[in-house]
This record gives sequence, C-alpha cells and structure tokens, in this order.
Amino acid sequence: MNLHEYQAKALLRDAAVAVPEGRVIRAIEDVAPALEALGDGPWVMKVQVHAGGRGKAGGVRRVKSIDEARAFADGWLGRRLVTIQTGAAGLPVDVLYIEPATAIARELYLSLIIDRATSKVTFIASDAGGMDIEEVAETTPGRIHALSVHPAAGLMPYHARKLAFALGLSGDAAKAFGPMLKGLYEVFTRKDASMLEINPLAVTEAGELIALDCKFVLDSSAGYRQPAIMAMRDEAQEDPREREAGKHSLNYVTLDGDIACMVNGAGLAMATMDLIQLEGGTPANFLDVGGGATAERVAEAFKLILSDSKVRAILINIFGGIVRCDLIAEGILQAVREVDLRLPLVVRLEGTNAEQGRAMLAHSGLAIIAETDLTRAAQAAVRAAQGDI
Ligand code: GDP
Ligand code: MN
Repeated sequence: MNLHEYQAKALLRDAAVAVPEGRVIRAIEDVAPALEALGDGPWVMKVQVHAGGRGKAGGVRRVKSIDEARAFADGWLGRRLVTIQTGAAGLPVDVLYIEPATAIARELYLSLIIDRATSKVTFIASDAGGMDIEEVAETTPGRIHALSVHPAAGLMPYHARKLAFALGLSGDAAKAFGPMLKGLYEVFTRKDASMLEINPLAVTEAGELIALDCKFVLDSSAGYRQPAIMAMRDEAQEDPREREAGKHSLNYVTLDGDIACMVNGAGLAMATMDLIQLEGGTPANFLDVGGGATAERVAEAFKLILSDSKVRAILINIFGGIVRCDLIAEGILQAVREVDLRLPLVVRLEGTNAEQGRAMLAHSGLAIIAETDLTRAAQAAVRAAQGDI
C-alpha cells in the first residue's frame, strides 16, 4: 500500500529525519492560510498522487506569490495527473502539498528496500539523484551503490561512513547523515515498509541535508499491525478493479494486454500468463481466484475481468485440486447469466469433477471454446483475441 508524499514525510518528521515544513491543500481556500503559516516564499507546490515523475509532468512548481499558488491549485485540484508511472488515465488530484522552497546545491538518491537476493534490508544510494535517476541506473550503474544491513546486528556506524563516502558528503551534511540514516532505518523497520525512497535527498546551499521527496510503501501483509498507516490509505489512488477484487478476497492485478485470465493458484496464474506471452498474446490481468473458490467468487471474478474494456478474449484455466471444477462451471454460468457476454471464452478445466464441469459448460448453449491442454488453450485465446476465431 502506497502513501502520499505528505504522509510519508510526517513519518520521517516523527523519526527526526529532516524534511521541510509543509501544509496540505485540498481547496483553493486552503492556499492563503498555508502560505501564512509557512512564512516568506518562494514555495514549492506539489501534486499528491501515488506515482513518481510528477516533476516532469508539471505536477511540481516553484511559486513566488499567492496568485501563482492559487493558479497552481486551481489548475490541478479535481484534475488528473499523467506521469510516466501512472498509465494514460493518470491519477486523480485531490490533495496538493506546499513547502518553503529549498535552495538546492546537490540532489542525491537514497532508498531502502528488502533485497530478496540477500534477504536483507538494503540501502541504495547515488550521488546522481533527482528526476533522472532511472537513466543513471541504466547508463552509469557504477554510480548506484547498495549496502545491506544484517537483521541481527542492525544499522552500524560503518554503514553511514560507507554511504556518506559514496554520496560525496562532507562537513555538516556528513555529520547529519548518520542520525538521518538511523531515522530512516527505524521508520522502515518499525512501520513495516517494503520500500522507502528519498529522491531527491538534497544538500542545501547552506550545507544541510534534507529529504525533499519521500515515497513509502507499506508491506500490505503487515497492515493488521499498522492501523495508523492503514488509516492513511487513499482508495481514490488505487485501481478500482484491484480495490473491488480485494473486497471479494481475489488476488487481481491489472495489466496492459487484452487477454483476461482467471486461474486458481498464483503459480498456475503466472504460468498461464507466461504461456499467453509465449504464444504471442498479452495478458490483461493477473487473477488468482484461490484454492477455496466458491461459485459466487468465480462469478465476481468473471464480472471483474469483463469490466475491463480492453479485454478481447478470456482464458479460464482451472486445475481442480481442492476446488471442484463443477463449482467453477457453475460460477461461470452464474456470471454469464448476469452479464451480456460477447467475448470469446476459452476454458480449460482439469482435475476434480472436470468432466462434470465441462459437460455443464457444453450444455449451457454458450459459445465456449473448451480445451483440456493448456498450450492449446493459450493458443486459442491468442487467436481469439486477434479475431481469428
Ligand atoms: P517527482 O518528480 O514526483 O519525484 O517529484 P519531486 O518531489 O522529487 O520533485 C521533482 C523535482 O523538483 C526535484 O528533483 C527537484 O529538482 C525539484 N524540487 C522539489 N522540491 C524543491 C524545492 O524545494 N526547491 C527546489 N529548488 N526544487 C525542488
Ligand atoms: Mn522525487
């Protein structure tokens, strides 16, 4: 689960990590009191959405007067921001954040992730931070440094020394770096983050170190023990289909392709997506209906994938181990009765009560392409999506 920049910065502030003071703006009327509270300008205004790349998309602006600030708020509130990370539809802009502008001397990059290769919390740092960090990683990977923290030993002074050196810090900034690292590590571990990113971490012209942007991602599996963070959830920023799926305990992720998949089991779902890709198609989603799928849940899942207008064919791949194939067939039929199905539907049922399930679909009068072999099913789905069936 993602947080907004202003929420992430509040977590940093609580951990004594230096961030600018800021105010949240939800309506034009909030602009004047915010500027008054923050004191003299210039200020920096930032659109709050769950995506990066805001700077390059016009979502970050330095403003020098209340009129400029109002114009920025008027231009963005209620609109959608499209960045390279949002997809074409963009994300709704309901909140802006305003801070006194910082006089930046250098922009650095610093983040924490869980490195699955080493199973350790790992710092990633670069002296080339800012809006082109992706390009830095691609063209000059030598400027990106990684350093893991042993979970039993925790953060050690040498971590700070090594990273400060990698970032080219000296003087006051180098001195402030150790405590800042400690604060970030504490936020990351205590708040169950799966990623915490500061970009840019600025060295100011006065030689101070300050976090100018912050991205925080909560490990959703830990949501039950982080109620304060869960309370910051902004559902308007989430994919509506993924949100709907969550309500029915379905594991659903929206993707870019046009072949919708419904599969039981995450591993089988991944394999199904791989096969679609191998046969020249592209999956529209990842969807695992789970081992204990009921007819109702299958029906909900079916409605979910049909609500995606880019879908041109559907591939259902069920291996009935715990779940019974006749129940799945019932769910499919139930859903098809409720919605007007005009898309080609390829079904592969195998395992417990597969024959019963297949017979139910065959007798339903629906134009279903039934396959027992997964490769053939994927091929049929790809052809169907291309309009060849
Ligand atoms: P992002 O593009 O979504 O990552 O948004 P950021 O919050 O990182 O802002 C983008 C860029 O705006 C930063 O890399 C900075 O160059 C610039 N920026 C952000 N805050 C300030 C500030 O207070 N002062 C100045 N001069 N530039 C800023
Ligand atoms: Mn940034």
